[in-house]
Amino acid sequence: MHFSHDPSGTIHTMLSVDEARERILACFAPLPPRRTPLLDALGLVLAEPIIARESIPPFTNSAMDGYAVRASDTRGACPDRPAELRVIGEAPAGSPAPRGFSDEAPPLRVESGMAIRIMTGAVLPPGADAVVRFEDTDESDTPSTIRSRGVVRIRREIAPGENVRCAGEDILAGSVVFEPGTVLGPAHLGLLASLGYSWVLVHPRPRIAILATGDEVVPIDWPLEPGQIRNSNSTVLAALVQQTGGIPKLIGIAIDREEDVARHLQYTHDADLILTSGGVSQGDYDRIKEFLRARGRFEIWQVRIKPGKPMAFGFVADTPVLALPGNPVAAVVAFLQFARPAILRLLGRADLEPIRVRARLTKAVDNRGRRRHFVRALLHRRSGELWVTPVPQQGSGILSGLVHGNCLAVIPEEWSEAPVGSEVTVELYDPIIAAAILAAGI
Ligand code: AMP
Ligand code: MG
Repeated sequence: MHFSHDPSGTIHTMLSVDEARERILACFAPLPPRRTPLLDALGLVLAEPIIARESIPPFTNSAMDGYAVRASDTRGACPDRPAELRVIGEAPAGSPAPRGFSDEAPPLRVESGMAIRIMTGAVLPPGADAVVRFEDTDESDTPSTIRSRGVVRIRREIAPGENVRCAGEDILAGSVVFEPGTVLGPAHLGLLASLGYSWVLVHPRPRIAILATGDEVVPIDWPLEPGQIRNSNSTVLAALVQQTGGIPKLIGIAIDREEDVARHLQYTHDADLILTSGGVSQGDYDRIKEFLRARGRFEIWQVRIKPGKPMAFGFVADTPVLALPGNPVAAVVAFLQFARPAILRLLGRADLEPIRVRARLTKAVDNRGRRRHFVRALLHRRSGELWVTPVPQQGSGILSGLVHGNCLAVIPEEWSEAPVGSEVTVELYDPIIAAAILAAGI
């Protein structure tokens, strides 16, 4: 770490990306777990072990529509010499036991030479050990009601257990289904539903307050006066928060005055993290710095990162505040490097890193400033190899560069130049894009 002075005499701590990230992450822990309706838990992290109270399936049942039989009765059966079995009743799904054809019939059991017509999901009748599909019987040749026919001809030899789903074959009662820390996807929710959980204990979604700053910055639906720009940062940051799993709350635009920043930050007590953009650089009106110094516990940093060097991190009351640069691309890069892992940690996630691959540069990249340089780029495959091409628009205010790229190529701070053909790390933040590129050609 080193120190530098700006013209106003402020001491800035000079940090590497890794040091800054370490300091920020040290202040975050998973949010206290909350019991949550199952359908609100998609993508959240489980905070309790799930022990199966029941087996799935809870009873042995048929996997097909057909006839429940004893497999040994079908030995040697073929289309020319079908096995003929007497149909003694039916087993519809949802019924605890098979039904006979007359009400006074005794409880049914499949003995040798007998069959019970059965539907998918119905309890396997006592005595039966296999199910013959309708397609392997004479069912379709002789349309008739089950009551009138009396016998079924089986055209194929069936193995014991065929078309039978055994109780507990998916999950056994008493077994550990999920450990704490599991990220719940749609299938996880389905298993929990089949085990009878309508609520689960998960780490809740963090609430992230987002404040824009700048005298020139106006709401997006305002007509622009000369000198003004619309507040694109709050939209981009809110979308990134959502994509990461947090709940964004836009708290407006503060003008470049300490009191106005303070006024906006009054409405953030329920936030788990406050993100601001702008006002942290060396300009005459960069008032976030002053606000933070005067009213919070703060560190003003210069991070060896490109784009975006100035940043601040600290607390207002007990809420952490990450002050991101104002330039739109710098704000996004800083979000991805610092806010994203913090939000993932609040969510209880253990995997804080983006998907990373190695690829070779198709163009040289200058890095004379010796900062860790996140280059907006396109990752692609050429003859089975991964290559990465920087997009032409590299300005830190040019959002189009991010739109045209699909990744960030990382040039290490130790390199003053990345020559053509050099291998660099590439970070992929969108799992759908990552899957599409990485799957193609493998
Ligand atoms: P600052 O860090 O406040 O000096 O801002 C750096 C650059 O980012 C300036 O050109 C600002 O106009 C621009 N900027 C700041 N805040 C926003 C915002 N919310 N949306 C879009 N651009 C912004
Ligand atoms: Mg500003």
